[in-house]
Amino acid sequence: MSVIYDKVALIGLGLIASSMALAMKRAGLAGRITGYARSVETRETARELDLCEVCETAAEAVAEADLVVLCVPVGAMGAVMEEIGPALKPGATLSDVGSVKKAVIEAVQPHVPAGVHFVPAHPLAGTEHSGPRAGFAELYDNRWCILVPVEDTDQGAVDRLARLWRGMGANVDQMDAEHHDLVLAVTSHTPHLIAYTMVGVADDLSRVTDSEVIKYSAAGFRDFTRIAASDPTMWRDVFLTNKDATLEILGRFTEELFALQRAIRTADGPALHDYFTRTRAIRRGIIEAGQDTDAPDFGRKAGTK
Ligand code: NAP
Repeated sequence: MSVIYDKVALIGLGLIASSMALAMKRAGLAGRITGYARSVETRETARELDLCEVCETAAEAVAEADLVVLCVPVGAMGAVMEEIGPALKPGATLSDVGSVKKAVIEAVQPHVPAGVHFVPAHPLAGTEHSGPRAGFAELYDNRWCILVPVEDTDQGAVDRLARLWRGMGANVDQMDAEHHDLVLAVTSHTPHLIAYTMVGVADDLSRVTDSEVIKYSAAGFRDFTRIAASDPTMWRDVFLTNKDATLEILGRFTEELFALQRAIRTADGPALHDYFTRTRAIRRGIIEAGQDTDAPDFGRKAGTK
């Protein structure tokens, strides 16, 4: 594959940015990659890993960049953008990878200088690990990246960014910000909140049952703990900024939970069976779409339980 941008700057050097650097290098998509993270420690780690040319300021990293990608937590996007706005090259594309889109656009857009093309994006890929050491080149392979162009975005800039994401292995789709935030509230944000809650409940209970919660965690609970180990800053920001959509889905979730609770209380076996039959079909759909493995127990090796 050939170079798509001569210079790409990554602001924030955690899981998402380091995976982007590795995926861009894998396919030779960028002439140069510069990066900046706020702490000396992260900058040193990124240098040690040789992820990119690590700069001492964000303004230095973005100077003359053809593409700048904000890879910081959603709540930090506005302040970072305010700082780098004046240093952006006219004609450059500015993007981000934030998990929420409406709030990021509201925070970032006022600081985008005229002549810079703002194309917000969200790769639907991640792990429960964070920081520059967590990145890997294959993170985006066969995952979706959703582009959320703002009004009047230059189509050429959108197409070019789409080519970059495809080059990094992703499938690309386009949505408006409000729709994105609702879809993600269903597929990611609310499930994370439920996992956090379930692990919190078990933690309270573990004081009663000692280590049994850990010992027998293979029975479903273990998968909740993986999700609930996700970065606290990132997820705090997601719920603070995708408030309306998450509350809407949580309302629906609570209604369904009450319906199931009632079915259990009234011993309504057919209702429970019908419900679980319907949800099983969703799992099949995800596997058919190539978004997860069909192997038993998510492909974990026998003996890892
Ligand atoms: P991460 O591994 O925790 O990395 C975050 C990076 O942002 C770090 O380099 C950190 O620098 C920097 N940073 C944090 N606060 C900052 C601030 N106030 N000013 C400047 N830099 C700051 O996070 P990540 O998982 O890569 O997530 C980055 C973005 O991607 C978030 O917006 C998140 O919503 C989005 N996203 C995450 C996932 C996922 O599953 N993880 C998936 C899709 C999208 P220091 O290390 O120096 O503190």
